[in-house]
Amino acid sequence: MQGTSWFQCVGCGASLDPDDAAPFRCPGADTGGAHVLARVLDVEQTEFRRRDSQNPFLRYRDLFHTYALARRCGLDDDGYAEMVDTLDRRVEVVDGRGFRITPTLEVDPPGGGTLWVKSEIDNVAGSHKARHLMGVMIHLQVIARLGLPGAPDPSTPLAIASCGNAALAAAVVARAADRTLEVFVPTWADRDIVSRLEDLGATVHACARDEGNRGDPCVTAFRTTVRRGAVPFSCQGPDNGLAIEGAKTIAWELLDALGSATLDRIMVQVGGGALASAVWSGLGEFAALGLLARPPRFHPVQAVGCAPFARAHERARRHLAEGATVDEVLAAAAASPSEYMWPWESEPASAATGILDDETYDWLVVLAGTLESGGTPVVVSEDLVGAAPALAEELTGLRPDPTGAAGFAGLLALRGGPDGGRGTAADVGPDPDLGHSAVLFTGGSPRH
Ligand SMILES: [Zn+2]
Repeated sequence: MQGTSWFQCVGCGASLDPDDAAPFRCPGADTGGAHVLARVLDVEQTEFRRRDSQNPFLRYRDLFHTYALARRCGLDDDGYAEMVDTLDRRVEVVDGRGFRITPTLEVDPPGGGTLWVKSEIDNVAGSHKARHLMGVMIHLQVIARLGLPGAPDPSTPLAIASCGNAALAAAVVARAADRTLEVFVPTWADRDIVSRLEDLGATVHACARDEGNRGDPCVTAFRTTVRRGAVPFSCQGPDNGLAIEGAKTIAWELLDALGSATLDRIMVQVGGGALASAVWSGLGEFAALGLLARPPRFHPVQAVGCAPFARAHERARRHLAEGATVDEVLAAAAASPSEYMWPWESEPASAATGILDDETYDWLVVLAGTLESGGTPVVVSEDLVGAAPALAEELTGLRPDPTGAAGFAGLLALRGGPDGGRGTAADVGPDPDLGHSAVLFTGGSPRH
């Protein structure tokens, strides 16, 4: 019997039926407060073993909500594996590669200690984003095949708002599954990406900023389309809780690559926050299963030109200093989200264009991870964002772009800058004693 798995709102605590076909948004999402669905895993009921596959969606399938749902509702293990494998082969036809465990490199960073670098540069669509969306697509295919009540018809369009890489990933996975996709991109979106999206059959809508309204116009247009019936095929947890599931595989692969080595800190670049939420959740689930002694200190990394999460953390930190417990701070944040998270006032700006989200949509789980682990956010200067890719290439031979190297820039900032001397982190002082750390290269230029 498969372990029991269900979705619960991190904000209001509402629990969904484990067999709910579409655990996208909290049912109370329009009632005020912060709402984001997160998977709860009954570890006592979970029998996890790593399956003999290099495809993470198959290797770790015992830990997926969708797998537990599929098994409860009558799809056997072989049937599930065949579905995932068939979809993966179609992804390979569209993108030239399917989902495989990505490399983890061990390097000696400047200043000592050990650094593990997990590289998503050669992953499907060239970044980690496709992991989020593959998880959602597997779910959509499972519920359609089982004919569960509430399953969207396969002809229903999918929708996403993105400034580039997430849209590309969505278009690849949607094309592989023969689904129609509406993409909402900013007017400054990279022309090559827009052209590739159109080649993949997506309908692209360029959204201009409206001076009268704060927030991302792409997200506003996306949410309007979802209200009209489209499936949220998004990399943001509050819009689709399932989007977090697939990217947890990054944390599981990383921990398995480390073996018995201790991980003291992890730096994760934060735009909308879904990657950080997934990594933290994945670490937490391995800890709950007894596969990790304790989660590492968690360091969300943002650029100085767009750091709404660091601002939220500062509010939380002040509340803690007044004597509140972590649980009390998180409850207060969930009840009054606008006091912690609001759109960045000026137009977000950084060379790390993949983390320029006006709001950290998944901030609540990321805040919990930061506070519970004893970590801190890192705000990186634009000089360091610019310097990080070349330093990363020198150290690893890999070629991350500024977004892909932003977590590494956070590590450099914690160390006090590229030369280990100048303080460049706005939120924390230099800390040269970082022990065993990990960063993710989320995208960049392939070596071949
Ligand atoms: Zn809720």
